Amino acid sequence: MNAKAAGLVMNEAPRSRARRIAVTAEERHARRRLAACYRVFDYLGWTESIFNHITLRVPGPEKIFLINPFGLHYSEVTASNLVAVDIEGHPIRPVDYPINLAGYVTHSAIHGSIPAAHCVMHTHTTTGSAVSCLEQGLSYDTFYGAQLYGRIAYHDFEGITVNKDERERMVADIGDKRVVILRNHGLLTWGETLEEAFMWLWLLQRACDVQVAAASSGRIKALPDSVLTQTRLEAAGDQSQVCAAVFDAFVRKVDERDTSYQN
Ligand SMILES: [Zn+2]
Repeated sequence: MNAKAAGLVMNEAPRSRARRIAVTAEERHARRRLAACYRVFDYLGWTESIFNHITLRVPGPEKIFLINPFGLHYSEVTASNLVAVDIEGHPIRPVDYPINLAGYVTHSAIHGSIPAAHCVMHTHTTTGSAVSCLEQGLSYDTFYGAQLYGRIAYHDFEGITVNKDERERMVADIGDKRVVILRNHGLLTWGETLEEAFMWLWLLQRACDVQVAAASSGRIKALPDSVLTQTRLEAAGDQSQVCAAVFDAFVRKVDERDTSYQN
């Protein structure tokens, strides 16, 4: 099996084409925040070997995104080894690591088509992938699922590599939904901030955890539509201060163990 067939095409970090763009204070801040996020995912066990991505747009007039260097575990990601790429996934500066260009296709499709999508997260956690494989999808009948009532988009699996046609279908399926279940695959969220995207993913992940645990024990009690509608209005993902507080709490747990991501 060659790398291309497995959807693992790496770009060659084209040094000759890479431009030299100064690192702004905003980019430095984004780098530290995103590196912390990779370590939070590691803390939570939301890792998939060297695969999957969290991408964050650098504030500024140009569309530049930060992404993990391909080949490193999330526990090895630091502020300085994150790769800054353009919307096509090409590094904007000479870099030490390639990126997984095939994996970036999904992220670039969302960043490129939804202007508000400044941060995109994607995971293959076991319970998240398990729920993505279910015919009925996510149950809203849990504390976490109810907050996501009517907020979830589904996109059917078409294979590992996302070609141009699939990108268009995926973006059409997502619409304006910020919580996405990639069927038979995994979970994806986006937000206007990193903290918002994290909050949606945390809610979705907890919903999957509880659904899988409950379904293994018996039949899940259905919630009335009125309760689901009310709970949706109270969703934590819509509360920016709560989103930031939740994320900051996890960063403090990471900082207790290892602050090397800040470098
Ligand atoms: Zn995936």
